[in-house]
Amino acid sequence: MITVALSKGRIFEETLPLLAAAGIVPAEDPEKSRKLIIGTNRPDVRVVIVRASDVPTYVQYGAADLGIAGKDVLIEHGGVGLYQPLDLNIAKCRMCVAAPVGFDYEAAVRRGARLRIATKYIAMAREHFAAKGVHVDLIKLYGSMELAPLAGLADAIVDLVSSGATLKANKLVEVEEIMNISSRLVVNQAALKMKRELLQPVIDAIAGAIK
Ligand code: ATP
Ligand code: MG
Repeated sequence: MITVALSKGRIFEETLPLLAAAGIVPAEDPEKSRKLIIGTNRPDVRVVIVRASDVPTYVQYGAADLGIAGKDVLIEHGGVGLYQPLDLNIAKCRMCVAAPVGFDYEAAVRRGARLRIATKYIAMAREHFAAKGVHVDLIKLYGSMELAPLAGLADAIVDLVSSGATLKANKLVEVEEIMNISSRLVVNQAALKMKRELLQPVIDAIAGAIK
């Protein structure tokens, strides 16, 4: 049996063609079904629907053999116990620093100001500002980072951006790009050894279908 951990939303939609290339078609749409375990056309393959940030945890502990998770989520998780063979080139966006229009971020950095940064991505933000030698107080949030500078909680945010429309609607601008983000296939390292004859063909078929 192969268990694949996926999250709903954009990752699920963009994953469907890749799974199809491996001959795997989920039996239900998780957006419409309340089921958390979904069968597929293959009796030996099932999908578990988890929160995006929980995908690496399911795969790390072997509750799922395979999973698909954003690079952002994998960096925050740390990647322990995970083999990451493929960049799938899906769910593409970028991690960036954004600040209110009119906040002179470069000047604040130049004068060595201590910045308050709100983010869901504490590990990535810590690493980024440490590498630049910028002193920051990191404030952990779980959503709607854009609100933090507007409400006076933070000077700036670290968040994912794709079109920039959400930033614009909240009078924020991207002041620094941290890295490009896309989603990766993750595989439980022990499962890959024990079930290689089952998993390797799936990995190879997905590899062949990446755009
Ligand atoms: P939840 O919505 O359950 O709080 P989440 O925000 O992490 O969790 P999604 O919004 O489905 O879940 O995002 C899943 C992944 O898609 C992210 O980890 C990231 O890699 C990628 N992603 C996030 N925002 C965008 C975006 N605007 N454009 C493209 N990809 C994105
Ligand atoms: Mg989301």
